[in-house]
Amino acid sequence: MQSEKFGAVVIGGGFYGCEVARELKQYFENVLLLESESDLMQRASYRNQARVHQGYHYPRSLLTSLRSRVNFSRFINEYKGCVYSEFEKVYAIARSFSKTSAAQFKGFCDRIGAPIGPAADELRALLNPHHVEDVFSVLEYVFDSAKLKDIVKVRLAEAAVEYELNAMVERLRYVGDQCRVEFRHRGEIREVEARYVFICAYSHINGVLWRSDLPLIPMKHEFAEMALIDVPEELKNKGITIMDGPFFAVMPFPDRGLHTLHHVRYTPHHWWTDTPGEGYLDAHKHFESAPRETQYEHMIRDATRFIPSISRSKYVESLWEVKTILPRSEVDDSRPILFRPVDKVPNVICVLGGKIDNVFDVIDYIREFVESNGVKI
Ligand SMILES: Cc1cc2nc3c(=O)[nH]c(=O)nc-3n(C[C@H](O)[C@H](O)[C@H](O)COP(=O)(O)OP(=O)(O)OC[C@H]3O[C@@H](n4cnc5c(N)ncnc54)[C@H](O)[C@@H]3O)c2cc1C
Repeated sequence: MQSEKFGAVVIGGGFYGCEVARELKQYFENVLLLESESDLMQRASYRNQARVHQGYHYPRSLLTSLRSRVNFSRFINEYKGCVYSEFEKVYAIARSFSKTSAAQFKGFCDRIGAPIGPAADELRALLNPHHVEDVFSVLEYVFDSAKLKDIVKVRLAEAAVEYELNAMVERLRYVGDQCRVEFRHRGEIREVEARYVFICAYSHINGVLWRSDLPLIPMKHEFAEMALIDVPEELKNKGITIMDGPFFAVMPFPDRGLHTLHHVRYTPHHWWTDTPGEGYLDAHKHFESAPRETQYEHMIRDATRFIPSISRSKYVESLWEVKTILPRSEVDDSRPILFRPVDKVPNVICVLGGKIDNVFDVIDYIREFVESNGVKI
């Protein structure tokens, strides 16, 4: 590091932290990004279903679906090098226990302007009509998480953002209007000073707050498993999502040439919440120590009811991660973002992204924040 004083320090080198740091570099001469892993974008930004949402997923949250529509176009333009579009995408509506009927789903897509049409016969034939009310062709893509990381690294270099890997932030302290950021790096404790600190640590945001004696933000965490599977030939270039409730999606995962299987009922193994005023369970420590017994057999058994040929898939391994959402997302399955200065410490800002493409909403918040705080450009 050239300097021990920074205009802004960003904690967490996932997609959000990297993009936040890059944006901040426009306003501050020195920006430092600190990441605890040995490379950028190894956690939730890699271990996810890689769907570039276009709104279809959120029939119960109009705002989230409309934001997705806007952000979809922007994402596929600005990150085209990592977007994989060459597959057929269908959404099928379950006959039983779906919170949305086929007619409602179609009406909702028309309302938000998301392209939708009847699925071709050969796609319908993949699904069991006893369990599926209707099947729609949609326009949705996936991204290659490894290629996204490469793009992000090039852009960080172009913007001259400094970053330090293997740098685990332990806590924050205040001296006047400056914040001292204490982090462990290769066995040593180091400290830098910053005017602003952005905590983009996803499931670990409260870990940093807790160790800094700052109030926790209410959050819900799920210990999540997604199976990586090698699907049979007829499913190879397809992405199929069963809506709307305790169902599943099987989507291409380009970085591995496999498919992910994410099941609403079996992907979360257990969950817990962070509640202000109560104790704190360290999400990262829990992630390291929690038992990992795959629920793949349950996932595939249920998926086979809807897509009989999926039973011939080969299980390869599972991707595990702590998935973090805001409690209010529980009600309508929405994925709003969090951009919140800490109470009484307004130069420490917590950022939680709901989906990859929501990053543009965060960038907008940063611009507003910079303007309203008179940060010098
Ligand atoms: C199972 C699952 C499926 C998902 N599917 C999708 C999908 O299909 N489409 C979609 O758009 N979104 C999906 N998401 C959501 C998406 O993955 C997240 O919204 C996004 O990756 C969050 O990015 P991030 O940078 O905030 O988090 P992360 O990528 O987790 O980055 C946080 C970083 O902070 C680092 N860190 C933590 N604590 C510290 C510390 N104290 N010091 C230094 N560094 C620290 C971590 O190592 C990590 O690299 C899914 C998420 C999960 C878990």
